[in-house]
Amino acid sequence: MKRNYNLRKIKTKKSYSTQELAVLCGIHPQTVRSWRNDGLLPIDEDSHYSLFLGSAVKEYLQEQTNQRRVKLGQGEFYCLGCKAKTTSRSTKFVSQDKKIGVNKISIRYEGECIKCGKSVNRFGSLQSNELVAEQVINTSLSPSL
Ligand SMILES: [Zn+2]
Repeated sequence: MKRNYNLRKIKTKKSYSTQELAVLCGIHPQTVRSWRNDGLLPIDEDSHYSLFLGSAVKEYLQEQTNQRRVKLGQGEFYCLGCKAKTTSRSTKFVSQDKKIGVNKISIRYEGECIKCGKSVNRFGSLQSNELVAEQVINTSLSPSL
């Protein structure tokens, strides 16, 4: 099942027939009918021939996306193997050498799913000075080990 639609192709103030939407999104007309059964409201609910307002379609598809989105807390990962939230057995972070804005850098957390053992990744950011601080701690620890 196709899950990501280019919402920018859908004009907010335009109305679309089932057929037009299907062509626009590259899907079968039956999929559009199933959207209607699933809660996508046509302009005229009593009409057999459905016309949908672009803004309603966008709202519906955005809502579907939001329902699938999983909010992760601190130290949590999304495991593609388990298709669920998970925590990691061991986590390390890798600098991506990419800056976000002025003082932040992009990092990648790497871990191992605690349930299935598959590798899990998560992107995040750190203040550049935090990373420097972390490196200082690491180097100051190593001689005593
Ligand atoms: Zn897993």
